[in-house]
Amino acid sequence: MRNHPRNAARDFDLAGFIAAIDGVPVIDNPGEVRLKSKDYSWFSPILKDILRDKNADVVVCPRNEEDVLRIARAAVRHRVPITARGGGTGNYGQATPLNGGAVIDMTALNAIQWVKPGKVRVQAGIKLIDIDNEVRKSGWELRMHPSTKRMATVGGFVAGGSGGVGSVNHGYLRELGNVLGARVVTFDDEPRIVELRDTDTLTINHAFGTTGIITELEMPLAAAWPWFDVIIAVDDFANAVRIGHQLALADGLVKKLVTPMAWPIPSYFTHFKSEFPRDRSCVIAMIAEPSLSPLKSLVAAEGGEITYCVPSEEGPDSRPLYECTWNHTTLHALKFDRKITYLQSLYPAERLEAAIAEIRALFQDELMPHLEFIRYNGRVQVSGLHLIRYTSAARVKEIFAMHEARGVMIADPHVFTLEDGTRHRGTDADQLSFKRKVDPYGLLNPGKMRGFTPA
Ligand code: FAD
Repeated sequence: MRNHPRNAARDFDLAGFIAAIDGVPVIDNPGEVRLKSKDYSWFSPILKDILRDKNADVVVCPRNEEDVLRIARAAVRHRVPITARGGGTGNYGQATPLNGGAVIDMTALNAIQWVKPGKVRVQAGIKLIDIDNEVRKSGWELRMHPSTKRMATVGGFVAGGSGGVGSVNHGYLRELGNVLGARVVTFDDEPRIVELRDTDTLTINHAFGTTGIITELEMPLAAAWPWFDVIIAVDDFANAVRIGHQLALADGLVKKLVTPMAWPIPSYFTHFKSEFPRDRSCVIAMIAEPSLSPLKSLVAAEGGEITYCVPSEEGPDSRPLYECTWNHTTLHALKFDRKITYLQSLYPAERLEAAIAEIRALFQDELMPHLEFIRYNGRVQVSGLHLIRYTSAARVKEIFAMHEARGVMIADPHVFTLEDGTRHRGTDADQLSFKRKVDPYGLLNPGKMRGFTPA
């Protein structure tokens, strides 16, 4: 075990903690610890600066739920901060410890407990792609997944994500029924396991691991379809929005993804360079095979052109088109231009196309429009993940204010606390009161739930 001189001034006993979990694998190599303390918060130039020097002291790697319980008991006794980590693909420094301590790497808890018609029970550290590969054998698939499906864990998705491919049918992850159950290890005086069902799972949903360590999840499934990746090229962005809107509204068309975006964004997708015609806007979509023919009618009626239509592949040597959507769009753009960043917004359902046009007209090249159609609260809505040419933090705030003044809600991706990210300016009441019960000393991912004061 290395020495940890940085801990001398801290009010937790790291050596005592490590001795108490004897047998649980511990990583203390500084390079590896630093790596496992980071996520994709560098998408934000603001967070990149704030979180640059934030690292854990060690990484602990539980092999099973019993190890997680032992880690919880030792952490409480020695008051060591614990930050959970799955695939480490979060965007807001969610898995980066602000106060040192231990990162708990959950990826060894990767078993599938059972698959039943319409639902699956898994350990939280399993990758989303591995769940789909298994449940597809019996004709099912996850209702939704982030575009990081091939890297992210289900625990990280539920604790840190919000929605993604499939949200055009099933809404955000927070909507009732999208998480059926969760098993959680508490960090109170007598660490224990609690089982949460239905609405109670909201206490751990998008809570950044501040309200317990999730060891198991029960997720609902949808019928699996033979999906096709489709690119629809159009001459102007308003047309892309219109086609996307009609496609999202067409309940007879089976789809999983509807993503309008404006040029030059498609120019950043080097793997699909020839499929995106130069200077044209597009809609990226995933369509079930039986719906391809009606899709062609819809596109032809709106003057679009299908330039790509191939079966969706997720193998190690293939590249699914969804890896050009959701926040993968930002990733591809950043490879070209480090000055690009992004925003997250929700357009008012009652005047979608008008509000989108209004926002587009406010900015010239500074904002590159990228939209994701979703079904939220029972209505077709649009989430904006526009790319921004970054100049300053002050300008980002101005851009947000210009959105909000027009009724477009912003979820700020340049902050690391739960409250600031949602811009509701308050902690979710259920999450706060649940945290008081399960983590009274504030050991779990401290600093991320601003409204919480430790006992
Ligand atoms: P991590 O980054 O490891 O963790 C995320 C949060 O969950 C952290 O706060 C962590 O402490 C906590 N956590 C992890 N495991 C547990 C556990 N077992 N118990 C308690 N807390 C836990 N997000 C979307 O919602 N939709 C998208 O489409 C999407 N696209 C993305 C594209 C790119 C290119 C990138 C970089 C990110 C994207 N994200 C998206 C964000 C992120 O990839 C997803 O939210 C993903 O599901 C996170 O999973 P993870 O395993 O990597 O979690």
